[in-house]
Amino acid sequence: MKVSVIYGDGIGPKVVSSALRVLEEVSDLYGLGLEFIDAPAGDNALRDYGEALPKHSLEKIVNSDACFKGPIGETARDVIVFLRQYLDLYANIRPFKTFKNVKSFWRDIDFVIVRENTEDLYRSVEDLGPDHAVALLIITRRRTERIARVAFDLAYRRRKKVTIVHKGNVLRSYAFFRDIAVEVGRRYSGVVIEDMYVDNVAYQLIVNPSRFDILLTPNMFGDILSDEAAGLIGSIGLTSSANISEEFGLFEPVHGSAPDINPEYANPLGQILTASMMLEWISYRKERREFMEASKVIREAVEKVLEDGDVLTPDLGGSARTDDVTLKIIRYIKKKLI
Ligand code: ATP
Repeated sequence: MKVSVIYGDGIGPKVVSSALRVLEEVSDLYGLGLEFIDAPAGDNALRDYGEALPKHSLEKIVNSDACFKGPIGETARDVIVFLRQYLDLYANIRPFKTFKNVKSFWRDIDFVIVRENTEDLYRSVEDLGPDHAVALLIITRRRTERIARVAFDLAYRRRKKVTIVHKGNVLRSYAFFRDIAVEVGRRYSGVVIEDMYVDNVAYQLIVNPSRFDILLTPNMFGDILSDEAAGLIGSIGLTSSANISEEFGLFEPVHGSAPDINPEYANPLGQILTASMMLEWISYRKERREFMEASKVIREAVEKVLEDGDVLTPDLGGSARTDDVTLKIIRYIKKKLI
């Protein structure tokens, strides 16, 4: 199984190396046969090759089974926004769940943001002049239907409730998004459908987040609500995400390159949970159970490290280094299997 790897910038190389050590461990223990292929991209690649996403890297990504990506700095737009469009990775899946012993505003948060990844204002069709700036808000039936199907399919594996996020009272384009999503949802018997204005969702996330199971959102609202959600669960350093199509998956943490911190103390758990998410996706796609088992053991190890609470990075109130956390995760996984 070929996995292309983008180490990224800032804390990227540190947290990606940490997650790869974990992946190598489970690959050996569960016989996954993972092979990692370095695909440089981002600010470092721009410096080294003159391009944020060099052709040779794009080729490696296209020829791999999945891409495992770290955070990217200033050139994020040239890499991730481009890859989402180029590979048509239309579904951005971002789970948010509170962990035992991690300080957060609420204890029982467990929802997933399913974000349309290819259109809306982020299609970046703009016109700029000295006295004006215009951006096109694009919502199409086909792309709304397919992201809605992802959300409602996922609902069957969860608590069967989908909240459609929009701003249909101000922009008819978002009312169009809502109407199509509702149309799709009606074909899924037993799933509760609600729709809510994005400003109310932002409020409800603070005062009553446990009411949500799946949030189905257009591109920009999903981007903004994700950071709010990450804050709710205690640290953006604990968040993972998938960008998927029927053919390919690219996995990355929700957080950025965090240029303001010492990489030696970056929290690697978001990137490690991203590894777990990637294995889960491979397991469904290739119908390989051992990948699901490996995915679960990684998640369990993260939960255990957080629950023990003695080896935590500074964002979680501890003083441990990235490497200490990585070692503790690997020790847990090894112990579990002996
Ligand atoms: P970028 O410009 O690449 O998006 P950023 O610093 O503006 O980076 P984030 O990386 O999302 O945005 O970070 C928001 C805050 O959370 C920053 O203060 C950052 O240091 C912190 N942070 C993000 N990820 C981690 C992590 N893995 N471990 C510790 N702190 C983190």
